[in-house]
Amino acid sequence: MNVLVCDSISPRAVERMREACIEVDVEDKITPEELLEKIGRYDAVVVRSRTKMRKPVIDAAENLKIIVRGGVGVDNIDVDYAQARGVKVLNTPGASTHSVAELAIAFMFALARPIAQSTRSLQDGLWEKGKFEGIELQGKTLGIIGLGRIGAAVAQRAAALGMIVLAYDSRTLGPAPYMMMAPLDEVLAKADFLSLHLPLTDATKHMINAESIQAMKPGVRIVDCARGGIIDEEALYDAIVAGKVSGAALDVFENEPLTDRRLFELPQVIGSPHIGAATREATARIGDEVADLLIAANQEAC
Ligand code: NAD
Repeated sequence: MNVLVCDSISPRAVERMREACIEVDVEDKITPEELLEKIGRYDAVVVRSRTKMRKPVIDAAENLKIIVRGGVGVDNIDVDYAQARGVKVLNTPGASTHSVAELAIAFMFALARPIAQSTRSLQDGLWEKGKFEGIELQGKTLGIIGLGRIGAAVAQRAAALGMIVLAYDSRTLGPAPYMMMAPLDEVLAKADFLSLHLPLTDATKHMINAESIQAMKPGVRIVDCARGGIIDEEALYDAIVAGKVSGAALDVFENEPLTDRRLFELPQVIGSPHIGAATREATARIGDEVADLLIAANQEAC
């Protein structure tokens, strides 16, 4: 089997695959044009979120049998089209759960206490002691939308911080001792902090829009470590300017890399460039799972 690795994975994963007699080419800066030209030679391809596996690439991939997405969301892959052409699409769903959950909690702390803004003020040579009063997380209500792997990990951590946790999910889920399930309108109405942990689908696109923001508690703070596009960024901008939303922390954006930086002109907005899974531990776990999947597929093929 020969594998093209298009986005970076751990060196250990590459080494393990080579030890298992898989030919691996690592081209983690490959452009879409180069990918189109080279993909025909490979049996399997490894991508993370940077590389898009859309119809034209899949059409050019004459020998392709497997696409492995190192990570959770497969929205950068035309999954149905690939599967219709007999190409399996695999991912590593649990490998980054703790990392993303911890980033969401870190964002909540940074929205409660203006850590980023006060650091910037110190870097500017100022000592604005009176400017940075925050709030406590203890006793506040956290609304979680999407109670899957990451949402549940955030819920557990938030409960341990003394937050009241309310969650909404489209699946029917049993109760957990540290949180309560509630309908979406109740979660929106009661949350002091709202954290999104859903996939981007037709049903979730712009789920956070002018209307749903209107239904939220005034002063709500919003965290999105899930997918760009779940929040209507224009509606969020307007709601922050209007004072309805007190702050937002965003790891993901409608267009990545970020081109429209208007939200970051607002001091209430903090963020990061889609780094939810970017920890040493998650990278190692993702690499291990990618290698396990491809080594197993190679053995099956022999
Ligand atoms: P998961 O599949 O375990 O959980 C998603 C949950 O969302 C499920 O419980 C599902 O029932 C629920 N859901 C789906 N549609 C819904 C709807 N319309 N209304 C309410 N609930 C709905 O996924 P996960 O591993 O917890 O990941 C959650 C999100 O985090 C995904 O979008 C994933 O792509 C994203 N993610 C981001 C990063 C990052 O780098 N920021 C890294 C990993 C995952």
